[in-house]
Amino acid sequence: MKRILTGDRPTGPLHLGHYVGSLMNRARLQSEYETFIIVADVQTLSTNFAHPEHLPEDVRRVTLDNLSVGLDPGKVSIFIQSMVPQIAELTVIFSMFVTVNRLRHNPTIKTEAGQHGFEDNMTYGFLGYPVSQAADILFCRADLVPVGEDQMPVVEVSRFVARRFNELYGEVFPEPEGLMSETARLIGLDGQAKMSKSLGNCIYLSDTSEEVRKKLMSAVTDPARIRKDDLGHPEICTIFSYQKAFNPTEVCDIEERCRAGTIGCVACKKRMIEVIETILGPIRERRLQFEAPGMVEEILRTGTEAARQEGERTMEMVREAMHISYFQR
Ligand code: ATP
Ligand code: MG
Repeated sequence: MKRILTGDRPTGPLHLGHYVGSLMNRARLQSEYETFIIVADVQTLSTNFAHPEHLPEDVRRVTLDNLSVGLDPGKVSIFIQSMVPQIAELTVIFSMFVTVNRLRHNPTIKTEAGQHGFEDNMTYGFLGYPVSQAADILFCRADLVPVGEDQMPVVEVSRFVARRFNELYGEVFPEPEGLMSETARLIGLDGQAKMSKSLGNCIYLSDTSEEVRKKLMSAVTDPARIRKDDLGHPEICTIFSYQKAFNPTEVCDIEERCRAGTIGCVACKKRMIEVIETILGPIRERRLQFEAPGMVEEILRTGTEAARQEGERTMEMVREAMHISYFQR
């Protein structure tokens, strides 16, 4: 069976952007691929190093979010990055042959440095997170990485690392492929380019019906529409972009009626609320099943053990290829 590695930074609850960008693909492919889901607590420290005290709660929350979308802990290994030492070992090895310039010019690093105000003063760990992410992906010799659009340039670094390692030392790693979904970037409720937990412009998978209703009703639509029969411009409307992502069967009809001024923004939003509720309802129910005390911890313990075993297999291959398995035989 081929392998999938993907995951999330535990920086807060997961949202609809994660759902359409990556979680749906994880759930859909879990029976076809041996799947590893990383809860990337070390990568969280690349921006949040001053507040590790939030990690235990956020690790639990992100794990619950993954389980709530239908990932089956009997099939999938969900694990904690910092508890798999082989990932740290690989990070050090890979960092020897990835140049600083390759990282500096990476589009994701540039965008995220801007978001966090790091442009002129970046830590070694932040600049190097694509190398650490290559280790996250390659420790289990993954073939496929379901991610959102923002992460594709980082996956490109992992592909480079796999190729370069194999050239230098011998064939150990597959060249992992990024897999984008149809909605590879969901825009934020405030109209910003990306719904992001760090920007606080999200509908969370754990939001109540009332929270969803309030957030959608107050989202900005087409500013040119004041009365409900004004002609609309769906291409600039946040709610319309959600109709495209979540309501494929009605989106064409809604687009026509918006342009013709025969559906108003309130009616369009009300329909959107109903559609989102049909997605979030089953997610809320599944979450309840996993909330029993000790359950998430047990799932993480089992998943982390599986990841460590796979990591050790990979390290044996790496040490062998690099002539650094000193004490064998
Ligand atoms: P942070 O701002 O803390 O980095 P994030 O919202 O970017 O949080 P991550 O944990 O970094 O979330 O990303 C997890 C996965 O979800 C990645 O594959 C990422 O590409 C994808 N993703 C995140 N936001 C979106 C979005 N708005 N649309 C589509 N995919 C997304
Ligand atoms: Mg991110």
